[in-house]
Amino acid sequence: MIHLQFEAKLQEEIDNREHINEMLAVPNKREYKFPAYVKDEIREKQKYCCATCGKHDSQVGTLQVHHVLPTYIAYNFFPQISLEALKSIENAVGLCSDCHTNTHDAIDELFEELEDSDIDYLHETMREQFAFISQALLGMQV
Ligand SMILES: [Zn+2]
Ligand SMILES: [Zn+2]
Repeated sequence: MIHLQFEAKLQEEIDNREHINEMLAVPNKREYKFPAYVKDEIREKQKYCCATCGKHDSQVGTLQVHHVLPTYIAYNFFPQISLEALKSIENAVGLCSDCHTNTHDAIDELFEELEDSDIDYLHETMREQFAFISQALLGMQV
């Protein structure tokens, strides 16, 4: 019985995930990749320490460079922000792999919570959640 409940829950999670992935699919994801010099620059700027937990890359491995405004959020909710701004150092943060995973999990959880709400509310929430970074990136284009 417990086993069946577990399987049902797992299936539910898989369905949920697929739905979110569909909604957030970015067709040209490769175009959003940070250039190598941006990655080097942000790692150096952070002295090779994770921006969240502070661990040095000698402990946690090469820092992964995360989009502060994630590409799929930008694509779906901030289409007015340019590709150049999205892959600039302004939108980069170096994270260890654990903190990077946690960051994406937190965003996914937010989406799961908002999944059934109407689209206006979804947009409003995203504007609030990513207000600071989206304004900074929009400001770069003036
Ligand atoms: Zn970390
Ligand atoms: Zn990321």
